[in-house]
Amino acid sequence: MAGMSPTLIVGNWKMNLGVRESYDLARQIAPACEGLQKTSVWVAPSCLSVPAVAKVFRDSAVEVGSQNVHWEDRGAYTGEISPTQLREVGGSFALVGHSERRSVCDESIELCARRALGAIRAGIKVIFCIGETRGQRESGQTEQTLTAQLLPFLANVQPSHQPAVIVAYEPVWAIGTGLVASEVEIEESHALIASLCQRYLGDSTTPILYGGSVSPANFEDILRCRGVHGVLVGGASLSATKLTELIAISEGHG
Ligand code: PGA
Repeated sequence: MAGMSPTLIVGNWKMNLGVRESYDLARQIAPACEGLQKTSVWVAPSCLSVPAVAKVFRDSAVEVGSQNVHWEDRGAYTGEISPTQLREVGGSFALVGHSERRSVCDESIELCARRALGAIRAGIKVIFCIGETRGQRESGQTEQTLTAQLLPFLANVQPSHQPAVIVAYEPVWAIGTGLVASEVEIEESHALIASLCQRYLGDSTTPILYGGSVSPANFEDILRCRGVHGVLVGGASLSATKLTELIAISEGHG
């Protein structure tokens, strides 16, 4: 765990919950999110649930965001979510380039970069997700893959927008599989991302999150990895009990 800023725990609820269920889960976790000293909690429900969840967290430090975002404010883009629409309903951040967008929905490196840059220009913070597949890791292409995914975004961020940038390292083979990257794998990837942020943003404070099967059982070990500023959590964030445990571990860490 690097630096003195709070550990960021981001729940990615994916397409798992209805609006009512999202609202209920938000209400259940809200008490555990109050008065935190060392932890920030953000949640990304499905976009239809953002207004209901944002209402629950209106007077709290918890930030609510979407799982994807478009680069334009409005226009003929059927099926897309605009950054200003997101802000209007209480959203402050968006995930971009999650591996399920890149692989299941075929979003290209360039498309992800365009989404992220447009959203940041419109005042939305971006958690830019990158990660290698098992095959890319086994063929020694991890560094090349992460760099290729990140550069079209990083190299085009304006210096004044740097505070809106967060990067999430999520090995594709660790997402939803119960497999977690090793300490060495996490530290190597985070060091690479940090050096790219330093080179292109001139900044070493960009938060870098780890994601992929994070749970209360492995969270402490992940937090101990150098260069990890927080986590992006899928499955475990759907359980109020597990999310509360993650928050307690973060508060007790260090
Ligand atoms: P997981 O998902 O925690 O269920 O592996 C992480 C993610 O996809 O962001």
